[in-house]
Amino acid sequence: MRKIAWIAFFSSALISCLGQTGTKAIALRCGSVFDGRGDSLRANVVIVIEAGKIKALTASAPDGAEVIDLAHHTCLPGLIDTHTHILLQGDITAADYDEQLLKQSPEYRTILATVNARRALEYGFTSIRDLETEGAGYADADVKKAINNGIIPGPRMQVATRALDVTGAYPLQGYAPNVSVPHGVQLVDGADNARQAVREQISHGADWIKVYSDRSYRVREDGVLDDIPTFTLDELRAIVDEAHRERHKVASHAMALNGVHNSVEAGVDTIEHGNYIADEDLKTMAARGIFYVPTIFVGEYVAQGRAAEGAPVWVKMIQIHEDTFRRAMKAGVKIAFGTDAGGFDWKINPAKEFSSMVKFGMTPAQAIRSATVTAAELLGMQDSLGTIEPGKLADIVAVPADPLADVSAMEKMDFVMKAGVVYRKP
Ligand SMILES: [Zn+2]
Repeated sequence: MRKIAWIAFFSSALISCLGQTGTKAIALRCGSVFDGRGDSLRANVVIVIEAGKIKALTASAPDGAEVIDLAHHTCLPGLIDTHTHILLQGDITAADYDEQLLKQSPEYRTILATVNARRALEYGFTSIRDLETEGAGYADADVKKAINNGIIPGPRMQVATRALDVTGAYPLQGYAPNVSVPHGVQLVDGADNARQAVREQISHGADWIKVYSDRSYRVREDGVLDDIPTFTLDELRAIVDEAHRERHKVASHAMALNGVHNSVEAGVDTIEHGNYIADEDLKTMAARGIFYVPTIFVGEYVAQGRAAEGAPVWVKMIQIHEDTFRRAMKAGVKIAFGTDAGGFDWKINPAKEFSSMVKFGMTPAQAIRSATVTAAELLGMQDSLGTIEPGKLADIVAVPADPLADVSAMEKMDFVMKAGVVYRKP
């Protein structure tokens, strides 16, 4: 508690003291820079920032600039987490989830979400894609608005609002038929109803449409992770068609064989989790530029708890996931960094995902690029984010070590700047 209070005080102090950039140039004197354009570091670079944007990379600070000394740090592009839930405080077990939906009001959950948004920023995530509120309505759109209006500190957000699933497929479940309980999604059945829900969510601020494409996992004898698909292909196609018609994109929670296959066939833009993906579907994903957001760390984190609750399949999934991840790399699928933070407690640093990706076969540089260049492309913001180069928004972070030598350095965030405003300083 005490630590949280201190962080909160520290942050608001930073916002008020450091948050005023004005028109004066800022010069970040970086010991080294990972600019995201290549796989190596450049030593002794000064990044010049003006009016929230990167103006130049030079050898010395221009006259009159405010110099920030990061000589013992590695500067990197602001990190992007493409799969978060700021309205959730961890849900290892069904009971954790029920507790939040039954005993916490959406208003209380929104207050907690503002704290999580601040945490995300302090961990170095200057942009996030928040993939649904888990029963808290359109609260994510309001948190985003409060951040954009400078009311609270937080990352740049793209939001999915309520997400979609079919009747009988998403918690809360298991209550008597005569008891009506809230659900973590908007329930829709039938292609026309699904189209209407997409229109509704977009009209209330959804940047992305999130669908849950499968449930009820089991490992077949041949080692394939099987599932029950939720939507029919017809329904999924209607959702994707409607979203795309309105120039919005679709993220699909798809963990296993059929959910992934139907999603890819329907033409979604991103596959979330993807613990098992058939080779044919990986090929299609690579050809059509469908992103894979593997969320590895959360799978390991929830596995033991869910196994203890009687679902040992979650432990078996880890090995299947690693095999899929390695096949996806070989197939040339675009892999974007995403953590499912909120699925685990926000007090745990989501940057642990970097180590998980390296354990599954990426180099540290590849893992960092997945959270910068590739993730910026997933957001459709590659022209303004993802690398450190002149003209881009000044989203810059720094860690006090070489993350290419040991990627766990990404968990030691010391400096965070978003659009030229400093939120954390060594
Ligand atoms: Zn999620």
